[in-house]
Amino acid sequence: MKKQNWYKLIYQFAVIGILTFMGFRLLWDKAYAPDFEAYCPFGGIQALGSYLTMDSLSCSMTSTQIMMGVALFIGIVLFSRLFCGYICPLGTIGEWIGKLGDRLKVRITLKGIADRILRLLKYVLLFITFYFTLQSSELFCKKFDPYYAVASGFNTDVVLLWALIAIGALLFGSLFFRLFWCRYLCPMGALSAIFKYSWWFLGTMAVYVILLLLGLKISYVYPLLIITAGGYILEVTRMNRVRPDPVHITRNTDTCISCGLCTEACPQGIDVASSEKVTHADCTLCGDCLHACPEKDTLQINKRNMKWLPAVVLGALIILGITAGTLFELPTISQKWGTEEQLASAGVFEMSGLKNIKCFGSSTAFANQMRRVDGIYGVSTYVASHTVHILYDTTMYTNEKVQQLIFVPVKRAIGELPEGTESVVYYTVTIDKFFDPLDATYLQNLLDQKTEAVGYQSDFACPVIVRIYFPAGKEPGREELVKAIESKNLSFTVNETEFNVKLPYRVVTFEDEKGSLTPQEFAREMFMPVTSFFNDSQNYTEDVLKGMPVILGENAKLSQRYSYLISHLSNEGGIVGFETSLNEVGKEMLTVWYVDTVTAPDRVFSAVNADSLMLHYADGTTGTVPNPFRFAPADTVTTGITE
Ligand code: SF4
Ligand code: SF4
Repeated sequence: MKKQNWYKLIYQFAVIGILTFMGFRLLWDKAYAPDFEAYCPFGGIQALGSYLTMDSLSCSMTSTQIMMGVALFIGIVLFSRLFCGYICPLGTIGEWIGKLGDRLKVRITLKGIADRILRLLKYVLLFITFYFTLQSSELFCKKFDPYYAVASGFNTDVVLLWALIAIGALLFGSLFFRLFWCRYLCPMGALSAIFKYSWWFLGTMAVYVILLLLGLKISYVYPLLIITAGGYILEVTRMNRVRPDPVHITRNTDTCISCGLCTEACPQGIDVASSEKVTHADCTLCGDCLHACPEKDTLQINKRNMKWLPAVVLGALIILGITAGTLFELPTISQKWGTEEQLASAGVFEMSGLKNIKCFGSSTAFANQMRRVDGIYGVSTYVASHTVHILYDTTMYTNEKVQQLIFVPVKRAIGELPEGTESVVYYTVTIDKFFDPLDATYLQNLLDQKTEAVGYQSDFACPVIVRIYFPAGKEPGREELVKAIESKNLSFTVNETEFNVKLPYRVVTFEDEKGSLTPQEFAREMFMPVTSFFNDSQNYTEDVLKGMPVILGENAKLSQRYSYLISHLSNEGGIVGFETSLNEVGKEMLTVWYVDTVTAPDRVFSAVNADSLMLHYADGTTGTVPNPFRFAPADTVTTGITE
């Protein structure tokens, strides 16, 4: 009976099993938000590259991925491509589908010139992947990586057509050609092959660093090109003698009976039965040949009976990578704009748990916001722990003042006051672990789902003060409200995407006295005017400008998405303004301003009620989202823009 390589199978089943469990868990655990890339070494190496060239980590990468990348490098240099052979889920799927192809007798091993030309593809993909990742600090491989596409449910980072082609290549390519994805398309496979020629990689990098130190301004594109092009040449010319190969498979020719089972078992198609020492660059030290050999101690590792060695080393490297990654955290961005003198005397304010700090983009937005504040000299962010470090002028601020500076007070309507409401009551509470705008969004959804609240507002204090409003008579009991705020899980939908989050809020104080307001006072309390004029509104005279007022009603709940509607309306020729106000009975109104010689009320009405909104993003691109707003027809038209 064929002997199984359990060392490898245990790793493969464990990885596929864990990923499948994570995928299925989403079906019953709505608050579960798995990170399928948490330990991806390829993402880690890209992140390290972007850190060294741009002083920022790619996307939502953390030190753990970087340390896994370093562990991968050490593993390849000292042993072999253990990651490819044992734990890469794409490698496992390609190998298993290949076995099916063998059974169906449809699989072939490409050899000769076709094999050598196709191997170029993965180096081209490696170059493109690193080039764009280092340009943008966003992981480019997410656009086509079959693993990421499936695990993320084809989220917005994925280019659907590219990902479908890649998935097709993985599934169908592996059925007909030996390890089609790994050999010809996987950029991680190309990088692993380059690491096998570590002198080439390290030598090129050393020369590049020396030239930089000598003051030459050379783009990283050149070493990237030299490393990838050289890696391809080394792979296809099989220069095994110039590759360090401290650990390899050896064959005892005295005891070998030339049965060929080892060659048959090798997933890489290496002719083990004809080699005294396996020096092929494709060997991953997977050990399948060792286990297939029927003759005791004929195939060994470095002429010693150490079948267990690659699996044990891989386990040790994984543990080392994860441990090192959790012991320290690299900043996602680290920007300093103060002078040397200012930085030398600056204080450091540190705050964790800021849910808004979740990736490179949100970190950059936060740093840009801080850059505009006098007396703030620098920002570092750490997305794994949602932490910020802020360098500040100690003569202008204290730690608490800096905390206040980054706090964004929020006022949000949750629902319309029911007709006939005579008064509004409110509770005042302080909430621990509640701070940033994302917390405000979560609280809004909690109150909307679990109470009859009509609005809330937050004010800075430690912990943050929150006032929650209810129509008189509809307010919950104190315990009921605390229970709602302290809910552990929340599910809500935005733009047809469902979000499931775990929440940490704890009510610290609950003011004894309930407050009370008239509906008009409540309307004034909650109202935050939004005004935006565009499309050269200043060029039109008052006699052609008309305002179409509509009652905001339930739309007021969506005030944080008014910018979507404004962006969409700016696409419509003739619409020039968006302005919210309170009418005399305290109802929130939206007035859309338009030029009546260019457009008409029915077109304005269609624009605000369009099925989807066309948005303009900061980088100049556009996109569409479903329109969450719905307005009833206007019955009046006003003239002239109010000052
Ligand atoms: S030669 Fe042996 S260890 Fe190397 S890839 Fe083939 S089966 Fe695995
Ligand atoms: S399986 Fe073992 S005995 Fe058979 S050819 Fe390979 S090394 Fe020789």
